Amino acid sequence: MRSSDWDCLVVGCGLAGSVIARYLAERGMRVVIWERRDHIGGNMYDYTDEHGFLVQKYGPHTFHTKEKRLYDFMCRFEDWKPYRLTCGADWDGRCTPAPFNFKTIDTFYSPEKAEALKRKLQAAFPGCETATVMEVLEHPDPDIRGYAAFLLQNDYAPYTAKQWGISPEEIDPSVLKRVPLRFSYGEGYFDDEYQMMPEHSFATFFANLLDHPNIRVELCVEALERLSVRNTSLMLDGTRVEAPVVYTGALDELFGGVYGKLPYRSLRFEWRYDAAESFQAYPVVAYPMKGYTRITEYKKLPVQQGAGTVYAEEYPLPYAQGIKTEPYYPVLTAESQKQYARYRTLAEQVPDLVCCGRLADFQYYNMDQALARALSCAEKLDIR
Ligand SMILES: Cc1cc2nc3c(=O)[nH]c(=O)nc-3n(C[C@H](O)[C@H](O)[C@H](O)COP(=O)(O)OP(=O)(O)OC[C@H]3O[C@@H](n4cnc5c(N)ncnc54)[C@H](O)[C@@H]3O)c2cc1C
Repeated sequence: MRSSDWDCLVVGCGLAGSVIARYLAERGMRVVIWERRDHIGGNMYDYTDEHGFLVQKYGPHTFHTKEKRLYDFMCRFEDWKPYRLTCGADWDGRCTPAPFNFKTIDTFYSPEKAEALKRKLQAAFPGCETATVMEVLEHPDPDIRGYAAFLLQNDYAPYTAKQWGISPEEIDPSVLKRVPLRFSYGEGYFDDEYQMMPEHSFATFFANLLDHPNIRVELCVEALERLSVRNTSLMLDGTRVEAPVVYTGALDELFGGVYGKLPYRSLRFEWRYDAAESFQAYPVVAYPMKGYTRITEYKKLPVQQGAGTVYAEEYPLPYAQGIKTEPYYPVLTAESQKQYARYRTLAEQVPDLVCCGRLADFQYYNMDQALARALSCAEKLDIR
């Protein structure tokens, strides 16, 4: 089947699908996007709530990248404000910056012990701005090791265990290897050169990105009600498709779960409004000892105008297809990656099928990685 009114079908209107659609549309292809949700933007979707706050439906997003070409791409479709996200962690009723820095030491140690520990850390890691908690934990000095152990016990272990639904003993040390500790009073969650938030909203960015005469977006369309794979052919309404199809959903869904369900973690948000002007010290604060993992106070992110404050508590939970949960984070284990590789092999045998994005690639992508991946897929499609 070759549709008379489109040259390429894109499944999913998140960043990956929308970027590919735009790229192809600018090169003269007519693109239709099918999105099962009732809005554009995928997990980056934001909207103004009943109190006048710009909130992000699927959790807090800040765009950051080291690559100027990705920054330039984003700037074509929205004006951006430079913005460095600051985060905190709260336990024992005390709040410290996260990633942890010298203020953390001042918060939890007596003044004399704090001064001695800061001097020791600077001497032990000369010229280093950061090290991972595992590196600090492996240091021969017992005071330095003790600091890392204190942070592990009170923050990293309970937080990670809650996030992934496992016991602290089961945590893969490689997860903790990525978490930096700062050896200064420097704050800021990311270190990339370009860090920004939209001047208006992420939804505005998407509206502009999709505003092209060659793009048609159809919302509330479950693509898999019409699209399927039979042997190695893509079928649309039972007829073979003879045009490129970009698929940004989960591969186990596309292939009817033949190799079992891919594991994802999901999140549940509880939204609260408070008449007070401020709820917590930072826009995003982790609460390792509470039932929720973290709270985002949207009032503290840019472009906010409401009175009072609004915030969302975040509760991790397993993802279960068919129940009202969303697949947020792939659970990356050796077993799940093998399972995914089998699905990928199936997908590679289907001509005209391009799988791209955080679900289809079974990867945790930041926005800049999803953008880079989408541009690379689009370039390959363009030359077919
Ligand atoms: C809580 C959270 C916080 C994050 N914070 C940041 C951050 O601060 N900075 C950062 O850089 N990145 C962040 N990210 C990552 C960012 O959300 C992703 O990189 C980006 O949204 C990926 O875009 P995508 O198009 O690949 O996926 P998605 O946004 O998931 O889009 C895929 C779309 O496809 C649709 N779809 C799937 N299957 C079908 C189907 N069968 N039929 C029709 N439609 C379908 C889905 O409904 C969805 O809208 C965060 C992610 C999460 C979960």
